[in-house]
This record gives sequence, C-alpha cells and structure tokens, in this order.
Amino acid sequence: MDFSYTKEQEVLKNVVREFCDKEVAPRAAEFDRTAEFDYSIIEKLSKQGLLGVIMPKEYGGMGGSHVDQAIICEEIGRDSLTAMVATNMAWYMAYECLVVGTEENKKRWIRYLFDGKKMGAHAGTEADAGTDAASVRTWAKLEGDEWVINGTKWFVSNLGKADFYFITLRTADSRYGGISTILVEKDTPGMTIGRRVDLISNRAISNGELIFENCRVPRENLIGRLNKGFLDMMVLYDVIRLYLAIGAVGIARGALEESLKFAQERRQFGKPVGEFQMIRAMLADMATEIDAARLMTYRALDMEEKGLRHTKETSMAKLYASEIADRVTYKAVQIHGGYGLTMEFPVQRYWRDARLCSIGEGTSEIQRLIIAAELLKSQNIVLDSALD
Ligand SMILES: Cc1cc2nc3c(=O)[nH]c(=O)nc-3n(C[C@H](O)[C@H](O)[C@H](O)COP(=O)(O)OP(=O)(O)OC[C@H]3O[C@@H](n4cnc5c(N)ncnc54)[C@H](O)[C@@H]3O)c2cc1C
Repeated sequence: MDFSYTKEQEVLKNVVREFCDKEVAPRAAEFDRTAEFDYSIIEKLSKQGLLGVIMPKEYGGMGGSHVDQAIICEEIGRDSLTAMVATNMAWYMAYECLVVGTEENKKRWIRYLFDGKKMGAHAGTEADAGTDAASVRTWAKLEGDEWVINGTKWFVSNLGKADFYFITLRTADSRYGGISTILVEKDTPGMTIGRRVDLISNRAISNGELIFENCRVPRENLIGRLNKGFLDMMVLYDVIRLYLAIGAVGIARGALEESLKFAQERRQFGKPVGEFQMIRAMLADMATEIDAARLMTYRALDMEEKGLRHTKETSMAKLYASEIADRVTYKAVQIHGGYGLTMEFPVQRYWRDARLCSIGEGTSEIQRLIIAAELLKSQNIVLDSALD
C-alpha cells in the first residue's frame, strides 16, 4: 500500500495545475455568469497530452493509470466543475467503447470519437426516467440496415455542443433486458435540439432536451451488445462515478483553499478571523473530510486497476465525496460571512456546483441502496432490490 504519488504523477499534477492557472481559473466565473463554456480549452488540453490519459496509446491516449486520470480531474474540478465535465465528455464515450464495445465498435469508432477536437454527450435520462433509468421510452427499431429512433431525452449535458450523442434507449420489450446504446452524430436528420434548461449548478454546460422523430442511423452505430445496455451501463458506472467523486473532491479543495486565504486576510476584533477557534474547527473538518474522500476514491480506482470488483467502494466514494463537497462548500461560504454570498468570491459557485455531485450519475439515495445491497449480499442475505 503506497499513499504517495510517483515522481511522474507529481510532475503531471504540476503541469495540469499550471494549465488550469492559465486557462481555466481566470475564466471560471465568466463561464458561470454567461452560462457558456469555451471549448477551445479542451483542444489546448489535448495538445498538451492531458486529455483522456487513461486511453491506451494505440488509440491516441497515454496509457496512464486511473490515478493519473483522477489527478487531472481533481485539478480541473478545483477551478471549474464545468471545465471538468466538458473535459471528461471529450474522452468518456471512447472509453465506453473501449470497455463495453464490440471489437467492431473499437475498430470503427474509438479513433473517431477520441481525436481531441470532438465532444460527446450521453443521453439516458427522460422526463419520466431519471433514477429509474430502465424505464426509458425512447425506442429504436431496426428497419433493414438502419435503426429508426423515436422519443425525447432530457437533461442532456453538452446539448447542441456535442459532435455525437450516445443514446441509451429501448430495443426490445423487456425492462432490463431490452436496453441498448446507439450513437447518433450531430446534424443527423430527425434529431433536433429542444429546450435548454437554465441551471444553478454546472451552469455553463448546455443542458436540455433532445428530440428524435424517425431519426435513422446505420446498424453499425449500435455500441456494445444488443439489449445488454443496462448491464453495460452498470459496469461503466463503477468507474465513471469515481470521476465525479474526484471532481467533488476538487471543488471541495478549491473551497478550502479560498477559505484559508480569506481567513488570513479578513480581520475582525483586531485579528484575522482564522485566529478564532470556531473558524479553525471548520477548516480542520473541511481538510479532514477532503482527505478521506480522496483516499476512498483512490482506493476504488486502485481496485479497478487491479481488476477487482468495487461496486460498493465506488458507491461509498461517490456518496461520501459528493456529500462532503456539499458540507465543505457550505462551510466555505460561512467562513466568508456576507462576502460568501456575493458573486465577487468563488465560494458561492463551488457551493452551487457541489450540489450536482450528489444528484448526477446516481443520487446519494441510490448510492446508499447499492452499498446496503452489497453489504447484505456479502452476508448471503438477498432481499428484493429497491431498484427492481
Ligand atoms: C446538471 C445536470 C446534468 C445532467 N446531465 C445528464 C446527462 O448528460 N445525461 C443524462 O442522461 N442525464 C443527465 N442528468 C440527469 C441526472 O442523471 C438525473 O437528474 C438523476 O439521475 C436523477 O434523476 P431525476 O432528476 O429524474 O430525479 P428522480 O429520479 O425523480 O428522483 C427524485 C428523488 O427521488 C429519489 N429516489 C428515486 N428513486 C428512489 C429509490 N428507489 N429509493 C430512494 N429514493 C429514490 C432520488 O434519489 C431523488 O432524491 C443531468 C442532471 C443534471 C441536473
């Protein structure tokens, strides 16, 4: 067991920090205010070899470890959740193809999906299918050599900005056994961008409705196994959720660093507020929870690296990291007093952005259900799943 970064990881962390100090931090407030992200940042990140380092070299990645990838995610998340989400959207779909794709998918799509310029999006959620992801009603029916898609997706991040969309939809009349993923490229006739939603969290990622009306795509756009999309999604979530967890750690760390600065600068009763014990207690709790969340996330990433099953450890890390991000950012606002509620200090943005982490990619309630089910299973107690 080794709790320190390698020399290469230290270098990686410094390089990403330098990049973020120059390209992300100075513009994070502007992205939030205008609700528009500048995607040229992703291309710059890619040129520095910092995009999708987890992808194998044969597919244009660095063949790095999950901890390498997490270091990048945390640094970007420290400055802007939106930048982190956008960055991930530029390699997630290629990673999905790598993990659950067929050999044909890999040959046909990975290089195309992961070129440092194209952005992806994942459309699973529908108005009536949120947590209950298996109740999707968007259908794809095979007609000759084409899939014909009908239905409406909702809460799609990167809406209108993505070059391709991975759509989780129904391909057979079975609840869990009738779900598949189909790739639809932008500007495909029959797919239209609907209403954009105005968010308070992760504001700069365009998000909203994606509509399919007799949208036709070639048969080979099926990603992964036909009708096994739900199972594939669960396998992927065991890893993908960890990148949201480490993003939450990044947000919390940003809130702590800003609070440490403020606590030394702001004076009341003739001394810096950081000299008051109650402020110090908050800072100590914040730092302790951030450390614990990072270690839990690294443990699950390490298990993935070693090929071990880590569904419980992923859910624990995702649950804990997103909930401490909420607590830590709340305290950061508290330490800033009234200034914490002004747009002049970034802690209010961290506070708002942290909220997404315990809702997106499986809510805290769902993580608790998964953890409990795994615990009971390990005692050979199998109860009806609350998710059925
Ligand atoms: C900013 C943002 C970006 C998003 N991006 C994407 C995206 O790119 N692609 C995509 O597909 N989706 C995306 N989503 C959707 C997101 O995944 C869902 O919001 C999330 O899964 C929760 O679904 P819901 O909002 O419908 O809540 P609901 O499922 O309606 O849940 C409401 C409440 O009920 C609880 N609940 C539900 N079922 C149970 C149960 N069995 N036991 C206990 N409690 C339960 C939930 O935990 C929650 O507290 C995004 C959402 C947001 C806000």
